[in-house]
Amino acid sequence: MESLTGACSCQAIQYECTVEPTFSWKCHCRDCQRASGSMLCPVMYVPKQALKITGKAKYYKVKADSGNAVNRGFCSDCGCPVFIDAELVPDLMGLWAASLDNPNRFSAQVEVWTSSAHSWSCLESDLENFRYAPTSEQMSKILS
Ligand SMILES: [Zn+2]
Ligand SMILES: [Zn+2]
Repeated sequence: MESLTGACSCQAIQYECTVEPTFSWKCHCRDCQRASGSMLCPVMYVPKQALKITGKAKYYKVKADSGNAVNRGFCSDCGCPVFIDAELVPDLMGLWAASLDNPNRFSAQVEVWTSSAHSWSCLESDLENFRYAPTSEQMSKILS
């Protein structure tokens, strides 16, 4: 496949991933809304071992609504959110879809935390959605 490549707005952080994402979703939790400045977080999770990062992201730690810790990586020069290092999936790194050189490479499998979606959010009608975090059963289905 063609590598997935992306960068922050000022290009100080760049990445390249050589394999397909393990899973992709759109998260409507309050923390993702705040981090995005918008309605949701479109994110694809890729194996850390297949990801090459140039530049250094600054990370801050938050406790997700699920109770798991999430480290959010952004560019300290331009402020662009780029990475999500989540306790839930320690071998994977989340890439914000908007940071992709070609954001059309992103396609969500499910939408999560729709219980906190704004009245002005857009849901994709043909996608399965979960009101809260996926249960471990739902998570293994997503990963299969
Ligand atoms: Zn930047
Ligand atoms: Zn979220």
